Amino acid sequence: MAVDINESLENFSKALQIKTISYPETEKFDFDEYAKFISFLKETYPLVHEKLDLKIINDYALLYHWKTESDDLPIMLLAHYDVVPVNEGTWTHEPFDGVIKDGKVWGRGTIDDKNSIITIIETVEDLLKNDFKPKRDIYMAFGYDEEVMGQRGAKHIVEYLKKENMKFECILDEGGLVAPGSMMGIDAELAVIGIAEKSQCNYEIIFKGDQGHSSSPPKSTAIGKMSAFIQDVENHPRECRLTKPVEEMLKNVSVYQSGLAKMFMKNPSRHFSLIKKSMVGGRQTNALIRTTTAFTMAESGTAANVLPDYAKVVVNVRVLQGDTPEMITDWLNSFNHDFELKPLYLEAPSSISNIDSKAYEILGESIKETFGDIMITPYLMIGGTDSRQYSELSENIYRFTPFKLDAHEIELMHADDEYISIENFEKMLEFYEKFIKKMAG
Ligand SMILES: [Zn+2]
Repeated sequence: MAVDINESLENFSKALQIKTISYPETEKFDFDEYAKFISFLKETYPLVHEKLDLKIINDYALLYHWKTESDDLPIMLLAHYDVVPVNEGTWTHEPFDGVIKDGKVWGRGTIDDKNSIITIIETVEDLLKNDFKPKRDIYMAFGYDEEVMGQRGAKHIVEYLKKENMKFECILDEGGLVAPGSMMGIDAELAVIGIAEKSQCNYEIIFKGDQGHSSSPPKSTAIGKMSAFIQDVENHPRECRLTKPVEEMLKNVSVYQSGLAKMFMKNPSRHFSLIKKSMVGGRQTNALIRTTTAFTMAESGTAANVLPDYAKVVVNVRVLQGDTPEMITDWLNSFNHDFELKPLYLEAPSSISNIDSKAYEILGESIKETFGDIMITPYLMIGGTDSRQYSELSENIYRFTPFKLDAHEIELMHADDEYISIENFEKMLEFYEKFIKKMAG
Protein backbone atom coordinates (compact mmCIF):
# COMPACT_ATOMS: atom_id res chain seq x y z
CA MET A 1 0.00 0.00 0.00
CA ALA A 2 0.97 3.54 -0.59
CA VAL A 3 -0.93 6.65 -1.44
CA ASP A 4 -1.25 7.74 -5.06
CA ILE A 5 1.43 10.40 -5.11
CA ASN A 6 -0.02 12.43 -7.97
CA GLU A 7 -3.41 12.58 -6.33
CA SER A 8 -1.79 13.55 -3.00
CA LEU A 9 0.16 16.33 -4.68
CA GLU A 10 -3.01 17.63 -6.31
CA ASN A 11 -4.72 17.68 -2.92
CA PHE A 12 -1.72 19.44 -1.39
CA SER A 13 -1.80 22.02 -4.17
CA LYS A 14 -5.48 22.72 -3.45
CA ALA A 15 -4.76 23.09 0.28
CA LEU A 16 -2.07 25.67 -0.50
CA GLN A 17 -4.51 27.74 -2.56
CA ILE A 18 -6.68 28.48 0.46
CA LYS A 19 -5.45 31.68 2.10
CA THR A 20 -5.50 30.72 5.76
CA ILE A 21 -3.25 33.57 6.88
CA SER A 22 -3.05 34.34 10.60
CA TYR A 23 -2.40 37.77 12.14
CA PRO A 24 -1.92 39.02 15.68
CA GLU A 25 -5.15 41.05 15.25
CA THR A 26 -8.28 38.89 15.16
CA GLU A 27 -10.10 41.32 12.85
CA LYS A 28 -7.54 40.71 10.12
CA PHE A 29 -8.30 36.97 9.87
CA ASP A 30 -10.37 36.03 6.83
CA PHE A 31 -12.36 33.29 8.51
CA ASP A 32 -14.16 32.42 5.26
CA GLU A 33 -10.85 30.96 4.10
CA TYR A 34 -10.60 28.91 7.28
CA ALA A 35 -14.12 27.56 6.74
CA LYS A 36 -13.14 26.78 3.16
CA PHE A 37 -10.13 24.82 4.38
CA ILE A 38 -12.29 22.70 6.68
CA SER A 39 -14.75 22.01 3.84
CA PHE A 40 -11.82 21.09 1.61
CA LEU A 41 -10.64 18.50 4.15
CA LYS A 42 -14.15 17.07 4.46
CA GLU A 43 -14.58 16.72 0.70
CA THR A 44 -11.10 15.42 0.02
CA TYR A 45 -10.81 12.86 2.83
CA PRO A 46 -14.19 11.09 3.01
CA LEU A 47 -13.02 8.06 5.01
CA VAL A 48 -11.35 10.17 7.69
CA HIS A 49 -14.60 12.07 8.11
CA GLU A 50 -16.72 8.96 8.07
CA LYS A 51 -14.68 6.80 10.48
CA LEU A 52 -13.10 9.33 12.85
CA ASP A 53 -14.88 11.68 15.23
CA LEU A 54 -14.24 15.31 14.42
CA LYS A 55 -14.66 17.90 17.09
CA ILE A 56 -14.40 21.51 15.96
CA ILE A 57 -13.17 23.63 18.85
CA ASN A 58 -13.41 27.41 19.10
CA ASP A 59 -14.83 27.56 15.54
CA TYR A 60 -11.83 26.41 13.49
CA ALA A 61 -9.51 24.15 15.51
CA LEU A 62 -9.84 20.52 14.46
CA LEU A 63 -9.58 17.53 16.76
CA TYR A 64 -9.91 14.14 15.09
CA HIS A 65 -10.28 10.97 17.11
CA TRP A 66 -9.76 7.46 15.71
CA LYS A 67 -11.39 5.33 18.38
CA THR A 68 -10.45 1.78 19.24
CA GLU A 69 -11.34 -0.68 21.99
CA SER A 70 -7.86 -0.32 23.50
CA ASP A 71 -7.20 1.09 26.97
CA ASP A 72 -3.62 2.02 26.07
CA LEU A 73 -2.81 5.69 26.11
CA PRO A 74 -3.54 7.24 22.71
CA ILE A 75 -1.04 8.97 20.45
CA MET A 76 -1.46 12.45 19.03
CA LEU A 77 -0.27 14.05 15.80
CA LEU A 78 -0.22 17.86 15.74
CA ALA A 79 -0.03 20.34 12.89
CA HIS A 80 -1.37 23.79 12.07
CA TYR A 81 -3.02 25.12 8.93
CA ASP A 82 -2.49 28.83 9.33
CA VAL A 83 0.41 30.43 7.49
CA VAL A 84 2.33 33.69 7.83
CA PRO A 85 1.55 36.60 5.46
CA VAL A 86 3.48 37.02 2.20
CA ASN A 87 5.27 39.85 0.45
CA GLU A 88 3.32 40.69 -2.70
CA GLY A 89 4.99 40.57 -6.08
CA THR A 90 8.31 39.10 -5.01
CA TRP A 91 7.62 35.39 -5.54
CA THR A 92 8.75 33.45 -8.61
CA HIS A 93 5.51 31.44 -8.48
CA GLU A 94 2.50 33.04 -6.84
CA PRO A 95 2.41 32.05 -3.14
CA PHE A 96 -1.20 30.85 -3.19
CA ASP A 97 -1.33 29.16 -6.59
CA GLY A 98 -0.09 25.76 -5.45
CA VAL A 99 2.29 25.49 -8.41
CA ILE A 100 3.93 22.10 -8.96
CA LYS A 101 7.04 22.56 -11.09
CA ASP A 102 10.63 21.32 -11.39
CA GLY A 103 10.15 18.52 -8.87
CA LYS A 104 8.91 20.97 -6.24
CA VAL A 105 5.66 22.29 -4.86
CA TRP A 106 5.77 26.06 -4.44
CA GLY A 107 3.84 28.30 -2.09
CA ARG A 108 3.22 29.63 1.39
CA GLY A 109 2.79 26.75 3.81
CA THR A 110 4.69 24.15 1.80
CA ILE A 111 7.19 23.61 4.63
CA ASP A 112 5.30 25.29 7.49
CA ASP A 113 2.96 23.57 8.03
CA LYS A 114 0.35 22.47 5.49
CA ASN A 115 2.85 19.83 4.43
CA SER A 116 2.32 18.17 7.82
CA ILE A 117 -1.49 18.38 7.80
CA ILE A 118 -1.79 17.00 4.29
CA THR A 119 0.75 14.18 4.63
CA ILE A 120 -0.73 13.13 8.00
CA ILE A 121 -4.32 13.12 6.80
CA GLU A 122 -3.40 11.48 3.45
CA THR A 123 -1.69 8.72 5.43
CA VAL A 124 -4.69 8.19 7.69
CA GLU A 125 -7.11 8.19 4.75
CA ASP A 126 -4.93 5.58 3.07
CA LEU A 127 -4.69 3.45 6.22
CA LEU A 128 -8.49 3.50 6.41
CA LYS A 129 -8.75 2.58 2.74
CA ASN A 130 -6.53 -0.41 3.45
CA ASP A 131 -8.59 -1.36 6.45
CA PHE A 132 -5.77 -0.79 8.96
CA LYS A 133 -7.02 -1.36 12.49
CA PRO A 134 -5.03 0.64 15.04
CA LYS A 135 -4.30 -1.04 18.36
CA ARG A 136 -4.62 2.18 20.31
CA ASP A 137 -6.55 5.42 19.82
CA ILE A 138 -5.07 7.98 17.48
CA TYR A 139 -5.76 11.69 17.66
CA MET A 140 -4.94 14.45 15.19
CA ALA A 141 -5.16 18.07 16.30
CA PHE A 142 -4.86 20.91 13.82
CA GLY A 143 -4.49 24.44 15.16
CA TYR A 144 -5.28 27.57 13.16
CA ASP A 145 -3.19 30.34 14.71
CA GLU A 146 0.12 28.71 15.62
CA GLU A 147 2.04 31.51 13.93
CA VAL A 148 0.52 34.04 16.32
CA MET A 149 0.92 32.08 19.59
CA GLY A 150 -1.88 29.53 19.26
CA GLN A 151 -4.22 31.25 21.71
CA ARG A 152 -7.33 30.54 19.62
CA GLY A 153 -6.51 27.04 18.38
CA ALA A 154 -4.09 24.93 20.40
CA LYS A 155 -4.94 26.64 23.68
CA HIS A 156 -8.61 25.71 23.38
CA ILE A 157 -7.87 22.18 22.22
CA VAL A 158 -5.65 21.71 25.28
CA GLU A 159 -8.32 23.12 27.60
CA TYR A 160 -10.82 20.67 26.16
CA LEU A 161 -8.46 17.69 26.51
CA LYS A 162 -7.60 18.64 30.08
CA LYS A 163 -11.28 18.79 30.96
CA GLU A 164 -11.61 15.28 29.56
CA ASN A 165 -8.63 14.20 31.72
CA MET A 166 -6.75 13.02 28.68
CA LYS A 167 -3.14 11.80 28.72
CA PHE A 168 -1.15 10.73 25.69
CA GLU A 169 1.55 8.14 25.17
CA CYS A 170 3.23 10.60 22.86
CA ILE A 171 2.58 13.78 20.95
CA LEU A 172 4.37 14.51 17.68
CA ASP A 173 4.46 18.07 16.31
CA GLU A 174 6.46 20.00 13.72
CA GLY A 175 9.87 21.28 14.78
CA GLY A 176 13.19 19.53 14.21
CA LEU A 177 14.16 17.91 10.93
CA VAL A 178 16.94 16.17 9.08
CA ALA A 179 19.57 18.83 8.48
CA PRO A 180 23.10 19.09 7.19
CA GLY A 181 25.54 18.84 10.09
CA SER A 182 27.40 21.85 8.73
CA MET A 183 24.84 23.94 10.60
CA MET A 184 26.37 22.59 13.78
CA GLY A 185 29.90 22.57 12.48
CA ILE A 186 30.02 18.83 11.83
CA ASP A 187 30.45 16.76 8.76
CA ALA A 188 27.41 14.47 8.80
CA GLU A 189 23.67 14.67 8.38
CA LEU A 190 21.65 14.57 11.53
CA ALA A 191 18.05 14.39 12.64
CA VAL A 192 17.21 16.78 15.45
CA ILE A 193 14.18 16.16 17.65
CA GLY A 194 12.91 19.03 19.78
CA ILE A 195 12.27 17.77 23.31
CA ALA A 196 11.64 21.19 24.80
CA GLU A 197 11.06 24.73 23.68
CA LYS A 198 11.60 28.14 25.17
CA SER A 199 8.63 30.40 25.81
CA GLN A 200 8.03 34.09 25.26
CA CYS A 201 7.27 36.87 27.68
CA ASN A 202 6.58 40.36 26.39
CA TYR A 203 6.63 43.47 28.54
CA GLU A 204 5.96 47.11 27.85
CA ILE A 205 8.15 49.39 29.96
CA ILE A 206 7.17 53.02 30.38
CA PHE A 207 9.49 55.82 31.50
CA LYS A 208 8.11 59.18 32.58
CA GLY A 209 9.76 62.51 31.76
CA ASP A 210 9.28 66.20 32.49
CA GLN A 211 7.35 68.07 29.82
CA GLY A 212 8.61 71.41 28.62
CA HIS A 213 10.90 73.16 26.21
CA SER A 214 14.03 71.34 25.14
CA SER A 215 16.12 74.52 25.60
CA SER A 216 16.29 73.91 29.35
CA PRO A 217 16.38 70.14 29.65
CA PRO A 218 16.77 67.98 32.75
CA LYS A 219 19.89 65.83 33.10
CA SER A 220 18.06 62.92 31.51
CA THR A 221 14.87 62.86 29.42
CA ALA A 222 12.38 59.99 29.29
CA ILE A 223 14.31 58.70 26.27
CA GLY A 224 17.59 58.97 28.19
CA LYS A 225 16.14 56.97 31.10
CA MET A 226 14.83 54.34 28.72
CA SER A 227 18.21 54.07 26.99
CA ALA A 228 20.04 53.70 30.30
CA PHE A 229 17.74 50.84 31.26
CA ILE A 230 18.13 49.07 27.91
CA GLN A 231 21.91 49.33 28.17
CA ASP A 232 21.87 48.01 31.71
CA VAL A 233 19.80 44.95 30.74
CA GLU A 234 21.86 44.25 27.62
CA ASN A 235 25.07 44.48 29.62
CA HIS A 236 23.76 42.16 32.34
CA PRO A 237 22.06 39.23 30.60
CA ARG A 238 20.53 36.29 32.44
CA GLU A 239 23.03 33.70 33.62
CA CYS A 240 23.98 30.74 31.41
CA ARG A 241 22.73 27.28 32.26
CA LEU A 242 23.02 23.83 30.78
CA THR A 243 19.64 22.15 30.29
CA LYS A 244 19.10 18.51 29.46
CA PRO A 245 18.21 18.94 25.75
CA VAL A 246 21.39 20.92 25.13
CA GLU A 247 23.52 18.59 27.24
CA GLU A 248 22.27 15.58 25.26
CA MET A 249 22.83 17.38 21.98
CA LEU A 250 26.42 18.31 22.86
CA LYS A 251 27.18 14.77 23.94
CA ASN A 252 25.83 13.36 20.66
CA VAL A 253 27.61 15.88 18.50
CA SER A 254 30.90 15.27 20.36
CA VAL A 255 31.27 12.06 18.35
CA TYR A 256 32.07 14.20 15.32
CA GLN A 257 34.53 16.45 17.11
CA SER A 258 38.18 15.88 17.75
CA GLY A 259 40.78 16.88 20.30
CA LEU A 260 39.83 19.16 23.16
CA ALA A 261 36.40 20.00 21.75
CA LYS A 262 35.52 16.32 21.78
CA MET A 263 36.72 15.90 25.34
CA PHE A 264 34.74 18.89 26.63
CA MET A 265 31.54 18.11 24.74
CA LYS A 266 31.50 14.47 25.79
CA ASN A 267 30.97 15.65 29.33
CA PRO A 268 29.33 19.05 28.98
CA SER A 269 28.20 19.45 32.56
CA ARG A 270 31.73 19.02 33.88
CA HIS A 271 33.23 21.38 31.32
CA PHE A 272 30.37 23.83 31.10
CA SER A 273 32.39 26.85 32.21
CA LEU A 274 34.65 26.34 29.16
CA ILE A 275 31.93 25.36 26.70
CA LYS A 276 29.89 28.36 27.79
CA LYS A 277 32.65 30.74 26.69
CA SER A 278 32.44 29.58 23.11
CA MET A 279 28.66 29.19 23.07
CA VAL A 280 27.90 32.76 24.15
CA GLY A 281 29.90 33.95 21.14
CA GLY A 282 27.26 32.80 18.63
CA ARG A 283 23.72 34.14 18.55
CA GLN A 284 22.11 30.73 18.07
CA THR A 285 24.28 28.92 20.61
CA ASN A 286 23.94 31.74 23.14
CA ALA A 287 20.17 31.39 22.90
CA LEU A 288 20.47 27.70 23.76
CA ILE A 289 21.98 28.32 27.18
CA ARG A 290 20.21 31.35 28.59
CA THR A 291 17.03 33.36 28.70
CA THR A 292 17.52 36.11 26.12
CA THR A 293 16.09 39.60 25.88
CA ALA A 294 15.46 41.62 22.72
CA PHE A 295 14.16 45.18 22.85
CA THR A 296 11.99 45.18 19.78
CA MET A 297 9.78 48.29 19.74
CA ALA A 298 10.09 51.82 21.14
CA GLU A 299 7.98 54.94 21.05
CA SER A 300 8.51 58.49 22.28
CA GLY A 301 8.54 62.17 21.42
CA THR A 302 6.45 64.51 19.30
CA ALA A 303 8.83 67.19 18.02
CA ALA A 304 12.53 68.00 17.83
CA ASN A 305 12.24 70.80 20.37
CA VAL A 306 9.74 69.30 22.83
CA LEU A 307 10.75 67.25 25.86
CA PRO A 308 9.03 63.86 25.70
CA ASP A 309 6.70 63.20 28.66
CA TYR A 310 7.12 59.48 28.24
CA ALA A 311 9.16 56.84 26.43
CA LYS A 312 8.11 53.25 26.13
CA VAL A 313 9.83 50.15 24.93
CA VAL A 314 8.77 46.55 24.39
CA VAL A 315 11.08 43.74 25.38
CA ASN A 316 10.66 40.22 24.05
CA VAL A 317 12.10 37.70 26.50
CA ARG A 318 12.72 34.09 25.42
CA VAL A 319 12.56 32.06 28.58
CA LEU A 320 14.83 29.07 29.15
CA GLN A 321 13.77 26.07 31.24
CA GLY A 322 14.52 26.84 34.88
CA ASP A 323 13.24 30.41 34.61
CA THR A 324 9.59 31.34 35.07
CA PRO A 325 7.65 34.45 34.04
CA GLU A 326 7.56 35.53 37.72
CA MET A 327 11.34 35.27 37.89
CA ILE A 328 11.69 37.38 34.76
CA THR A 329 9.33 40.05 36.12
CA ASP A 330 11.33 40.18 39.36
CA TRP A 331 14.57 40.30 37.44
CA LEU A 332 13.51 43.28 35.30
CA ASN A 333 12.37 45.11 38.43
CA SER A 334 15.65 44.30 40.18
CA PHE A 335 17.53 46.69 37.87
CA ASN A 336 16.03 49.42 40.01
CA HIS A 337 15.31 51.91 37.30
CA ASP A 338 12.32 54.19 37.58
CA PHE A 339 9.63 52.74 35.29
CA GLU A 340 6.22 51.16 35.06
CA LEU A 341 6.37 47.52 33.97
CA LYS A 342 3.36 46.15 32.07
CA PRO A 343 3.35 42.45 31.22
CA LEU A 344 1.76 42.02 27.76
CA TYR A 345 2.08 38.26 27.45
CA LEU A 346 3.52 35.76 29.92
CA GLU A 347 4.14 32.09 29.32
CA ALA A 348 6.28 29.50 31.06
CA PRO A 349 8.74 27.43 29.00
CA SER A 350 7.67 23.91 27.97
CA SER A 351 8.40 20.82 29.97
CA ILE A 352 11.40 18.72 28.90
CA SER A 353 10.32 15.45 27.33
CA ASN A 354 11.60 12.03 28.18
CA ILE A 355 14.16 10.46 25.84
CA ASP A 356 14.12 7.03 27.48
CA SER A 357 10.61 6.26 26.29
CA LYS A 358 9.40 3.60 23.88
CA ALA A 359 7.90 6.38 21.77
CA TYR A 360 11.29 8.12 21.41
CA GLU A 361 12.82 4.83 20.35
CA ILE A 362 10.09 4.26 17.76
CA LEU A 363 10.47 7.79 16.50
CA GLY A 364 14.19 7.11 16.00
CA GLU A 365 13.51 3.81 14.19
CA SER A 366 10.99 5.48 11.88
CA ILE A 367 13.51 8.23 11.09
CA LYS A 368 16.28 5.74 10.31
CA GLU A 369 14.03 3.60 8.13
CA THR A 370 12.99 6.68 6.19
CA PHE A 371 16.25 8.62 5.97
CA GLY A 372 18.96 6.00 6.45
CA ASP A 373 21.27 5.37 9.35
CA ILE A 374 21.83 8.96 10.43
CA MET A 375 22.66 10.44 13.80
CA ILE A 376 19.60 11.38 15.84
CA THR A 377 19.80 13.87 18.65
CA PRO A 378 17.42 15.70 20.94
CA TYR A 379 17.70 19.47 21.00
CA LEU A 380 16.12 22.58 22.45
CA MET A 381 13.89 24.63 20.16
CA ILE A 382 14.46 28.36 20.51
CA GLY A 383 11.37 29.09 18.42
CA GLY A 384 7.88 27.98 19.36
CA THR A 385 5.29 25.43 18.25
CA ASP A 386 1.75 24.64 19.37
CA SER A 387 3.05 21.62 21.28
CA ARG A 388 4.46 23.68 24.17
CA GLN A 389 0.87 24.17 25.29
CA TYR A 390 0.45 20.39 25.56
CA SER A 391 3.14 20.01 28.27
CA GLU A 392 0.73 18.63 30.87
CA LEU A 393 -0.82 16.07 28.53
CA SER A 394 2.21 13.88 27.89
CA GLU A 395 5.74 13.22 29.08
CA ASN A 396 6.72 12.36 25.54
CA ILE A 397 6.24 15.40 23.35
CA TYR A 398 8.50 15.43 20.31
CA ARG A 399 8.94 18.12 17.70
CA PHE A 400 10.08 16.69 14.42
CA THR A 401 8.97 17.30 10.83
CA PRO A 402 10.01 14.28 8.77
CA PHE A 403 11.83 16.00 5.93
CA LYS A 404 15.40 16.73 4.97
CA LEU A 405 16.14 20.36 4.20
CA ASP A 406 19.40 21.90 3.10
CA ALA A 407 20.63 25.21 4.49
CA HIS A 408 18.90 27.17 1.70
CA GLU A 409 15.59 25.38 2.19
CA ILE A 410 15.64 25.97 5.94
CA GLU A 411 15.86 29.71 5.26
CA LEU A 412 12.69 29.56 3.14
CA MET A 413 10.55 29.10 6.23
CA HIS A 414 8.41 32.28 6.45
CA ALA A 415 10.31 33.66 3.42
CA ASP A 416 9.65 34.26 -0.30
CA ASP A 417 9.72 31.29 -2.70
CA GLU A 418 8.98 28.73 0.01
CA TYR A 419 8.84 25.26 -1.53
CA ILE A 420 9.04 21.59 -0.67
CA SER A 421 10.64 19.05 -2.98
CA ILE A 422 8.36 16.24 -4.09
CA GLU A 423 10.95 13.87 -2.71
CA ASN A 424 10.49 15.38 0.76
CA PHE A 425 6.73 15.27 0.43
CA GLU A 426 7.00 11.55 -0.31
CA LYS A 427 9.37 11.06 2.62
CA MET A 428 6.81 12.64 4.93
CA LEU A 429 4.12 10.23 3.73
CA GLU A 430 6.50 7.32 4.14
CA PHE A 431 7.49 8.40 7.65
CA TYR A 432 3.98 8.93 9.00
CA GLU A 433 2.86 5.54 7.75
CA LYS A 434 5.81 3.87 9.50
CA PHE A 435 5.40 5.87 12.68
CA ILE A 436 1.66 5.25 13.01
CA LYS A 437 2.02 1.54 12.25
CA LYS A 438 4.82 1.16 14.80
CA MET A 439 3.06 3.15 17.50
CA ALA A 440 -0.41 1.74 16.91
CA GLY A 441 0.06 -1.42 14.87
ZN1 LIG B 1 4.76 26.02 11.98
